[in-house]
Amino acid sequence: WSSDVCSSDLENATMARRPIVGGNWKCNPAKVSELDGLVANMNTCDTANCDVYVCPSPLHVGIVYQKFNKGVYCAPQNCNFKGTGAYTGEMCAEQMVDMGMEWCLIGHSERRGEFGLPTPAESSKLIADTKMGYLLKAGMKVILAIGEPLPIREKGIEAVMEVCKENLAPGIPHMKEYGAEKIVIAYEPVWSIGTGVTASPEQAQETHKAIRAYLAEAVSEEFAAAVRIQYGGSANAKNAAALGACPDVDGFLVGGASLKPEIKDIVDLLVAAKA
Ligand code: PEP
Repeated sequence: WSSDVCSSDLENATMARRPIVGGNWKCNPAKVSELDGLVANMNTCDTANCDVYVCPSPLHVGIVYQKFNKGVYCAPQNCNFKGTGAYTGEMCAEQMVDMGMEWCLIGHSERRGEFGLPTPAESSKLIADTKMGYLLKAGMKVILAIGEPLPIREKGIEAVMEVCKENLAPGIPHMKEYGAEKIVIAYEPVWSIGTGVTASPEQAQETHKAIRAYLAEAVSEEFAAAVRIQYGGSANAKNAAALGACPDVDGFLVGGASLKPEIKDIVDLLVAAKA
């Protein structure tokens, strides 16, 4: 590592950011009978020094949302931008607030069309401006997922940052208005999601640092120092310590490994890396 990449520009503020780990169950499990086991895995996570959230499948949210321990937040995987009404197949913030939910994930690459949706992908404007603004106004907190596909990563960090900035830019006014307590950024390189290929700690740190630098310029130094940036993409108990040691990596959004007991270890390894 060069000393430039290894260190955070906002070293002091690093200490103040509470680690955060999310488990994205995606369209799993197949059977309702498997839910209790998955809930139990999440409930083994030690939340004393780490925020933990879990994104059950839309069909299962209503079954499990009251089964998590205090400190393990149930966060839907998506949200509409209109509220209640004639929106077949959608979920809205008002329903989430009524159910006592505080967090919602938006902008996952699989919602942006990365698993081959034949319908138009959700745009950055829809996600970071319309949906994020609507959720924040309704009193929810937002996990905003961003990240580049492989052909962009192959072009280098400048091209990667062009995509990240494009993903983030429509949300800048909301970041200015609502602040870092209400928003978490999940940097999830598309090429590492569900592939078993993880970004190296150097790649993750370099990108998180560049995202923070962009936010310092576009929002404010204060926001950039305080906002939590999670890494997502094949994070697991084997790589959590090294990735968690990166000063600008504040946690993980975990897919596959959140369906296993190792989610507890990921939390512990992250907290130990930050201690
Ligand atoms: C995700 O989809 O958010 C994710 C990071 O998945 P995985 O950990 O399985 O790569």
